[in-house]
Amino acid sequence: MIKNYINGELREPVSEKYFDNFDPAIGEAYGIVPDSDERDVELAVSAAEVAFPAWSNTPAEERTRLMLKVASLIGRDLAEFARAESVDNGKPLHLARTVDIPRAIKNFEFFASAIHGFASESHSTPEAVNYTLRNPVGIVGAISPWNLPLYLLTWKIAPALITGNCVIAKPSEITPMTAFLLSEACIEAGMPKGVLNIVHGYGSKTGSAIVSHPRIKALTFTGGTKTGAHIASVAAPMFKKLSLELGGKNPNIIFADADYPKMLETTVLSSFRNQGEICLCGSRIFVEKPIYEKFKNDFVERTKSLKIGDPLEHSTDQGAIVSKEHMEKVLSYIQLAKDEGGTILCGGNRFVPEGRCENGWFLEPTIIEGLPHNCRTNMEEIFGPVVTITPFETEEEVLMMANSTEYGLASIIWTENISRANRIAAAIQTGIVWINCWMVRDLRTPFGGVKSSGVGREGGMEALRFFTEPKNICVKL
Ligand code: NDP
Repeated sequence: MIKNYINGELREPVSEKYFDNFDPAIGEAYGIVPDSDERDVELAVSAAEVAFPAWSNTPAEERTRLMLKVASLIGRDLAEFARAESVDNGKPLHLARTVDIPRAIKNFEFFASAIHGFASESHSTPEAVNYTLRNPVGIVGAISPWNLPLYLLTWKIAPALITGNCVIAKPSEITPMTAFLLSEACIEAGMPKGVLNIVHGYGSKTGSAIVSHPRIKALTFTGGTKTGAHIASVAAPMFKKLSLELGGKNPNIIFADADYPKMLETTVLSSFRNQGEICLCGSRIFVEKPIYEKFKNDFVERTKSLKIGDPLEHSTDQGAIVSKEHMEKVLSYIQLAKDEGGTILCGGNRFVPEGRCENGWFLEPTIIEGLPHNCRTNMEEIFGPVVTITPFETEEEVLMMANSTEYGLASIIWTENISRANRIAAAIQTGIVWINCWMVRDLRTPFGGVKSSGVGREGGMEALRFFTEPKNICVKL
């Protein structure tokens, strides 16, 4: 049974109500989640307010020590965390073990160290010296999605805590399990009461209570663009600080001179890793005409060889889709693609594994061709194992198509012509550009999107700046 983590304790929700938590690989409920409401959020905010004066004045070295302790406890229990993440989300266990949980550990370790290089500005003239203090914002809300549950939650919590804020966090109600395990790790690590509070529940209830709470001064949110727009409409009139990491419809641009084997291998990953449920996946693949047919055949063949099935089996490449509702949404987009005149080159259906997972929510990885760049299938985020492939002839044409959606999160460019790569990188409307690679991450870099993919940047100093309020002090000489 999952419980809220409020004021340093594991507590039942005030309503005493719970809802089911599902294992998508078997299509059955396996636990219950607190159905928290504004009363639980109020308790968390009150606890955070009591904790804030001492926590914000705690030396950075001590905050670092605590964060490293939490990181080491997650490391000690890595196998348990990884299994919990896989069961909750449907992702392959080996992915949770090698990517999700190690990255959650790294998030704590990275910010525990980054804080010591975080300097503030000073400006001097013969007349006066200005210096800037960077104080914690206060109580901040962190709301995260289901696709990379602990990875994205800790990406928000770690910089918020290390800069001296107290946090009210809400993981996605669909994947709450590792956030609960994190609560236990924080208790064991000796995290002071009220510094981090994790309140579970529905976005429309618990999430809304966090967003609209007048004493929560900043919100960091990762999730869908529609939800982000709603959050902004509530938070902006209250003048809250906002960081929004939203949806994407990322272009993957492949030129004929690309390093073909490396490109093909990476494109299979950038299309279907984590069931295509990564905001950075390249879902619109544009291929230069001379290699289009070859790429199409090779890509389909490689994709057909992916092993779909039980996430707990080591040989599985693609696990379950996170929920029945999401699986149906993705299937409805495959139907839309057909209605729009697309040809399904492979996949296109629900997949039914044999044995333990026969009632699970699985989809075949799907490749579609023959669609115009501006149809709905190519404009709207699907967020599943579905990609389209489209030929192009010129740089101008591919740039026009790549930039034609409302989104602007990430892009991928494959070419050995470095001048062309840099030209396109400069002109493409995304916050992140990968040249001849994908998902190569350096936590010091600014992370985030443009257009409807978000506002603000996470990562490195950007995150430390977001979670602090600058105060300029002018001293007359
Ligand atoms: P949602 O927007 O549905 O939900 C994200 C979080 O917000 C969840 O915790 C959700 O709770 C909560 N929430 C929902 N409604 C409200 C509300 N009214 N007020 C406050 N909180 C609310 O996104 P998904 O969980 O479906 O995640 C998938 C989306 O996330 C995709 O669009 C994807 O592109 C995006 N994403 C973006 C990334 C980026 O870095 N830009 C990275 C990863 C994902 P609940 O689950 O209970 O509804």
